[in-house]
Amino acid sequence: STLLEVRGLTASVKETGQQILAGVDLTIREGEVRVGSSWSRRLQFYWRLVIHAIMGKNGSGKSTLTKVLVGHPHYEVTGGTILFKGEDLVDMEPEDRSLAGLFMSFQAPIEIPGVSNFDFLLMAVNARRERSGLPALGPLEFYSVVSPKVDALKMDPKFLDRNVNEGFSGGERKRNEILQLSVIGADLALLDEIDSGLDVDALEDVANAVNGLLTPQNSVLMITHYQRLLDLIKPSYVHIMENGKIIKTGDSSIATQINEGGFKSIALV
Ligand code: ADP
Ligand code: MG
Ligand code: MG
Repeated sequence: STLLEVRGLTASVKETGQQILAGVDLTIREGEVRVGSSWSRRLQFYWRLVIHAIMGKNGSGKSTLTKVLVGHPHYEVTGGTILFKGEDLVDMEPEDRSLAGLFMSFQAPIEIPGVSNFDFLLMAVNARRERSGLPALGPLEFYSVVSPKVDALKMDPKFLDRNVNEGFSGGERKRNEILQLSVIGADLALLDEIDSGLDVDALEDVANAVNGLLTPQNSVLMITHYQRLLDLIKPSYVHIMENGKIIKTGDSSIATQINEGGFKSIALV
């Protein structure tokens, strides 16, 4: 089924009215599980994970698209539709979009003074559990959930006591975003340049964590300039954005082509 269906989306900077998105069309389906039987008549399950990537020159509107999808207050939707799991997102509060299963990592994540990472994650998880009618987790119970994920991302456990994003290095912020995603979970995660500012080892840890989160029921939309991220998290679809529109969609061979010959090497038919 379809996770995200964007049609003719136009959006402007609220303060100035300057149009940034000029009619975006984008469809993201969840992965698929199929049951079939093999020649030996044993039941077999087939599944396919779905990963989308958006590439495009600086200033083409990639970050704005993701911000508009999560309801960033600086932008106003002026036309078109955004359906997420069949629900119209346009008039929904950012918090409700997130509770509905849309996750975003910001290119420049915000600091939240006075709230520790641990408390922030616990609040986020319990808000989702409450929505699903599940009892809240206590701190000890939650610690046993979050601790292995901190280890998997090779983060210092002390990091849970620090305030959200306060004084984090670029790399720590990126790992923290992925920790949030792995603890909170999402049906669709929008990851904006999670590769920026990460060295090769850190990028591998982050990519492994993202790959480990993928199931046939969810999907990831990654934004990147660089092939190296797409070598680690292999996209099923690559979209090229230019002047506030998606002008081409194809498979991962597009990314290779851009890597070798630049954006000018892509034939825009
Ligand atoms: P990308 O992520 O593809 O590099 P952005 O979405 O960040 O591009 O920006 C697209 C264009 O919109 C750029 O020209 C940028 O300067 C402009 N823009 C985005 N947000 C704002 C804003 N809040 N105010 C003014 N201009 C903006
Ligand atoms: Mg940019
Ligand atoms: Mg950007």
